[in-house]
Amino acid sequence: MMQPSARKRARIDCIIHCSDDDSDALVSPQDLDSWNTLLRAAEIRQHDPVLEAAKGLEEGGIPHIHYHRKCRSLFTMKKSLDSILAKGVKIESASVDPRRRASRDAPSTSRVYAKVCLFCEKSSKYMKAAKTREPLIQCVELRADEKIRRAATRKLNQRILGLLSRDLVAAEGHYHKSCYKLFTKDDSPAAARSGAGENQEESKGAR
Ligand SMILES: [Zn+2]
Ligand SMILES: [Zn+2]
Repeated sequence: MMQPSARKRARIDCIIHCSDDDSDALVSPQDLDSWNTLLRAAEIRQHDPVLEAAKGLEEGGIPHIHYHRKCRSLFTMKKSLDSILAKGVKIESASVDPRRRASRDAPSTSRVYAKVCLFCEKSSKYMKAAKTREPLIQCVELRADEKIRRAATRKLNQRILGLLSRDLVAAEGHYHKSCYKLFTKDDSPAAARSGAGENQEESKGAR
């Protein structure tokens, strides 16, 4: 009996091919953690095929992708990801330190982003002046999305640009008002001056 399907199985490609391994020994993400690690690397590298695979994925889903073990380890190598981040970002504050990112508690495969601030990646922010915690605001305006996008592009902030690969409104991105202001404020000295002293911001909004 002929078994055509076994024969003409399309050659599967390594989605992140970046090593000299051209064997057929391809593997897939083992579990959600493993996939999340790959996706994070892809967000930093702006690697479209993987980002594409992440789109339209149901919550907690793992896409059917394949890669060489060797390619994966190069692709997700922390040292090189750190150096991409370091190169892309003009470090203005400590908040961009990639080592502080908790990759475990914020699975980025779900359709919506974790309820943390897009910028400082914390859920609540302690305001010294007011002695209260600053509430998170959900991104509901496309205008805000656009403003963040422009600022991230200007600053070449790869991490934020990675988050923007999804629509912030649809993905329910959250932020602190002050972090948002700080991030989107113009770099020009005049704008910086007018933006100073904003920690007394009214923070009633959270109902
Ligand atoms: Zn490969
Ligand atoms: Zn924040």
